[in-house]
Amino acid sequence: MKNENNKKDYDLLVNIISEAPGHFYWKDAEGICRGANNAQAIFLGYKSGKDLIGKTGFDFYSKEQAEIIRKIDKQVMKTQKEYCIEEVVSNQEGVKTTFLSRKIPLYDPNTKEVIGIIGISLDITASKQAELAKQQFIMNMAHDLRTPLAGIIGLASIQADKKMNHQEQQQYGQWIRGASEQLLELLNAVLKVIDTEKMTDSIKAEPVHLPQLTKELQALMQPSIEAKKLEFELKLNALLPTIISDQIKLKRLLLNLLSNAVKFTKKGKISLEMSLLSVEERQAKIEIRVADTGIGIGKDKFDKIFDRFYCAHPSYEAEYTGYGIGLYLVKRTADLLGGKITVSSEEGKGSCFALEFIFPLAEENVDETGCVTLQPSHFETHSEGHNHSVLVAEDNTLVLYVVKNLLVSLGYDVTT
Ligand code: ADP
Repeated sequence: MKNENNKKDYDLLVNIISEAPGHFYWKDAEGICRGANNAQAIFLGYKSGKDLIGKTGFDFYSKEQAEIIRKIDKQVMKTQKEYCIEEVVSNQEGVKTTFLSRKIPLYDPNTKEVIGIIGISLDITASKQAELAKQQFIMNMAHDLRTPLAGIIGLASIQADKKMNHQEQQQYGQWIRGASEQLLELLNAVLKVIDTEKMTDSIKAEPVHLPQLTKELQALMQPSIEAKKLEFELKLNALLPTIISDQIKLKRLLLNLLSNAVKFTKKGKISLEMSLLSVEERQAKIEIRVADTGIGIGKDKFDKIFDRFYCAHPSYEAEYTGYGIGLYLVKRTADLLGGKITVSSEEGKGSCFALEFIFPLAEENVDETGCVTLQPSHFETHSEGHNHSVLVAEDNTLVLYVVKNLLVSLGYDVTT
């Protein structure tokens, strides 16, 4: 009975070791593997830990790498101290992985002599890459923070010290405004990251009238499109239905794509296209495309542009400002809303971001018998008779002053 229990315990222990997370191995004094878990074996191209027994580092790695590993093992045995190291290892397929490894001496339980080493290695490749992207983000941000701030301080000091005529004052005011706007943009980008990190919050399910949504997007984009003298083309399928989705998230996603299209286009056209691909079982397959005739993106960068903090045209070396957050946010939102995003582009010609969603149809598209009936949308491109009075409530005098001036310049009657 006791033997049986011992065997069970032993089997369990063996199982725990082979299935243990991380990479786990032990070697004798000659550097020959005496055991390993399955994760280590799989990384090295084998099936189970048993397959590694009797092999040395020279069987798996380059001579150079194996020698370094051997040297560390010897040091651990000699000093009898734990050794902790970050190591980049290539397996037989040449895949580079960064490990955080800890190695300790292995003692004979009876003689207490050092008879080898025990090692445990954790794959930290992903966090290393994230760290790298973060460094680039900080580099971009430091540059983008310093430049406008130095400008603002410089201009303000000159203004404080020097007598200026009206024209000079106006020019300085414009420069200071430009620099402050850049700072605000940066601040918004940083806040966006924080927001994105907690975006897994609830996804709303509300009716979204797609033609109406495109109209709102067009209105939001109009000023920047006009400022850059670009054309805007809206191509809507006549049967676009009202669907169920999260209106704000969908809008933010498309705004990000449209803003990028404008940002990376000097001349030509931005287009927003929405088509109904099919309707099946009260679900509509919708394709949305945002295209531009801008600088384009190299094919080798297609995978990377959706990573957080990745900029294909970084601001410290080029003329485009940005923090590599927009497309990360777009991809995450598309995933959350059950969509797929793909990019196609040619450098110098333009880019196109295509989204495919399957949305449930809103009740209004389904009649009493449960049949789907889509009506061509009677959608007006120009809204008329909008209200010209605005009430502004704001407790910061400076902000109130600026908002009021802006609204007045846009032709509104403002009450504060
Ligand atoms: P950013 O804030 O830098 O614009 P994004 O995450 O929105 O960040 O985009 C990542 C990178 O992808 C951009 O830095 C840019 O190099 C590239 N990119 C995105 N959209 C476009 C586009 N429409 N045309 C050309 N390049 C683009």
